[in-house]
Amino acid sequence: MDNESSAEDIVKRRSIFFRSFGIYTEVGGFYDYGPIGLRIKRNVESAWRALFPEGLGLLEVETSIVLPEIVLKASGHLATFTDPVGICSTCKTAHRLDKTLEEYYEKKGDAEGMAQVKKMKLDELASKINELGIKCNKCGGVIGSPENFNLMFKTQMGQKSTDVAYLRPETAQGIFVDFKEIYRSHGLKLPCGISQVGKVFRNEISPRQQLVRVREFTQMETEIFIDKDAKFEGFGGVDMRRVEAEKLPFIKRGTNNEVELSIKELLADGAIPNEYFAIMLYKEKELIELLGIEKGRYRFRQLEKEELPHYSMGNVDLEVKTSYGYIEVSGNAHRSDYDLSSHAKMSGKDLTVISNEKKVLPHVIEASIGVDRLLFSVIDGAAKDDGRGWKVLALKKAAAPYLCAVFPLQKDDKLIEKAKEIEGMLVANKIPAFYSDSGSIGKRYAKADEIGVPSAITIDFETLNDGMVTIRDRDTSKQVRKKIEEIFELVV
Ligand code: ATP
Repeated sequence: MDNESSAEDIVKRRSIFFRSFGIYTEVGGFYDYGPIGLRIKRNVESAWRALFPEGLGLLEVETSIVLPEIVLKASGHLATFTDPVGICSTCKTAHRLDKTLEEYYEKKGDAEGMAQVKKMKLDELASKINELGIKCNKCGGVIGSPENFNLMFKTQMGQKSTDVAYLRPETAQGIFVDFKEIYRSHGLKLPCGISQVGKVFRNEISPRQQLVRVREFTQMETEIFIDKDAKFEGFGGVDMRRVEAEKLPFIKRGTNNEVELSIKELLADGAIPNEYFAIMLYKEKELIELLGIEKGRYRFRQLEKEELPHYSMGNVDLEVKTSYGYIEVSGNAHRSDYDLSSHAKMSGKDLTVISNEKKVLPHVIEASIGVDRLLFSVIDGAAKDDGRGWKVLALKKAAAPYLCAVFPLQKDDKLIEKAKEIEGMLVANKIPAFYSDSGSIGKRYAKADEIGVPSAITIDFETLNDGMVTIRDRDTSKQVRKKIEEIFELVV
């Protein structure tokens, strides 16, 4: 839990992210990103973009956030996008029944109990809570009145109150609705993929654990459209031999223990439904490792049958260990042709495409990654105490808000001028850098370490004569003297 306090402390002190609307009221589930947090968030999105849409040669779109009711009726969200809730009979607090029960078993260290929760329906959850005597954690009252609560934020379009609309609960539906349009206008062929990053909204019953469960968050989603009858002949220029050889920490359906298996083995026994799905998991592993979530802190979990929607042909979550335990950072799903066939039926439009001279309604493989949970996991794991009472965010370069800090040793006009010149040179070369001359040099190092800046460059009087600067490494505190021209290779 040391990590938790270090990370939380830094996050608060440097306003990396913080509760929205703070001067007015405390509303759960809404967070704002401060300038440093936003830079890290953009890095997370850029890393994803480089690996997914750009790395795999897919297309990226931006679709509407407000969806007319009919879209969500077709997708099934109106009827089934619910969470099981119970209300405290005394203080009226709403509790998410599955999470309440999971927490109970987690405290007891009962992995089997936790696994069982995932399979339970509303009534079973309510009666188990009753049977175990679990009470409201606010006032000790009885948790009753179970209901399935729809998580979508409802709104209205225009002045006529009958024109109901909802804020999108996932970015994917926009991609499905637009699929045929993009396919046609871009001359696509199956298999092909479309990605989207953007805000989504879920009216969570009990938002908590900082960014882990919020009501407004960002998803990075990729939908791969395939002809289910066509043989796999490669995708996105990925070397399948490398993918298949990759070993993943994996929890198979019906088990509680993590085993290390190659993607080839997981494909062979059907835990991973097909090669496209395998590529998504491979890329996710690459993404989180690039951002600093190392082996031992993540695992993939094949969902139990009871957890799957009826149309699913396989789901695997990526889970990352944080100070709150394992959290789902990404949901991967073989969605069959459910989405396109539902939208085709509801709209009356033909959403089939021609592939290999026949009409095909594509099947879809989805990788849905939550930006905020990923960012939280990265920061949570990177927070360290350096032993001298300093808090350090040991962020990888791919996540760091700046690659280097530039400091004049003292507040001297000549040093300031030189330092600003170097900062300008770095920024002009697209190296994210910032300048600071406030406080002692030690304090400035500490403040840069705290937000995860990997290198700090100090300009002193000798720099003015010999063109050499001191470069300090965040993780080792080692300092080396280098020529200004050599900065680039050291910090990038
Ligand atoms: P959970 O079971 O934790 O509610 P989910 O299975 O409903 O999550 P998905 O619908 O698969 O989540 O969404 C894809 C990703 O979006 C998740 O893996 C997660 O990273 C993110 N996500 C979902 N709900 C939230 C939330 N309330 N707050 C922050 N991120 C979320």
